[in-house]
Amino acid sequence: MMKSRRKKESIMTKRNLIIGSIILIIAVLVIGLLFLQGNGTEAALRRTIINNLEQDSETASELQRTDRITIVLVGTGSPLAQAGPQTSTAVFVNGQFLLFDAGNNTLDAMNSLNFPLYELDAVFITHFHNDHYADLGDVMEWSWIWGRRHILPVYGPIGITQIVDGFQSAYELERSFRTAHHGEELMPPEWAPSEPIEFAALTDDSAIVVYEKDGVTVKAFRVNHAPVEPSVGYRIEYAGKVVVLSGDTVRTTSLLEHSRNADLLVAEAMNKEVVGAIEDINRELGYEGQANILFDIQDYHMDVSDVGALADEANVKRLALNHLAPKPQSRRQANLFFRDPVAEQFSGELFVGEDGMQIVIPVP
Ligand SMILES: [Zn+2]
Ligand SMILES: [Zn+2]
Repeated sequence: MMKSRRKKESIMTKRNLIIGSIILIIAVLVIGLLFLQGNGTEAALRRTIINNLEQDSETASELQRTDRITIVLVGTGSPLAQAGPQTSTAVFVNGQFLLFDAGNNTLDAMNSLNFPLYELDAVFITHFHNDHYADLGDVMEWSWIWGRRHILPVYGPIGITQIVDGFQSAYELERSFRTAHHGEELMPPEWAPSEPIEFAALTDDSAIVVYEKDGVTVKAFRVNHAPVEPSVGYRIEYAGKVVVLSGDTVRTTSLLEHSRNADLLVAEAMNKEVVGAIEDINRELGYEGQANILFDIQDYHMDVSDVGALADEANVKRLALNHLAPKPQSRRQANLFFRDPVAEQFSGELFVGEDGMQIVIPVP
């Protein structure tokens, strides 16, 4: 009896031992697998971070090359576009990072292009339609958060002070929280501000110098985007090379004259035939309000035929189209709406703008 009970106890102990061992083995396997998996995840994370950092610094040094001017069409949309970045053009020249306009989604677009936002030297705004400055506040703020250590000058015609001060006021609380949380060394409050630099009203077709630094000159000239007043285009000059940005405008003598022999003209372009057709469809379908807006916008933009003729007459070497209305949804539409009609008049190098497109002008 005693023997039998002992035997039974011994069997139970053995069984417990076996079960215990199995549980232990499974636990070790699971922990091992988790550990390995954890290590794998960490390694992948490390690789991603290193790749991103390398890519960022490669992009930054490529963009800051001094043997060329690099123009990036950050955003080429117009308010007719459903999504994507609206007007914004970056010019990298002689180590300087200049941003012209900051329409909706500019910040996201610059981030996805790995731009060194902390190196942003100056912003220039052409006029005060929101498709040209809606992201200005975030550009001002994030350039500081990511390491800008200078006050950011924001140039523009009369009205820029109101816009910049408005954004600064809107971001005041946000800034104070960043500094409170991360400390003054990481988020130095003295570098957070931007400085509006408002230039005088342009009363004739001449251009005025608004920015000069290390051989780079930016001039502003008036354009015609009535009733939007003031409204300007910009001309960037460096080492004998000239880049002109039209801003929003109809064809004007000032744009023609300041674009003469330019190495690159970045011009807004609308295909009025297509916009007119969209207007008609809206009217037929009973969307009278939308149809009226589509009608109105045709009187203060350049048709593709105007752009081609102006670029030809001004003898520009390269022409890039932005602020595309309507924004093409395919290569076929890009050709049909923009390339073909412009190429009828302009035989130089033609770029139908795409978001993120780079144009390089070698500097001797
Ligand atoms: Zn406009
Ligand atoms: Zn616009």
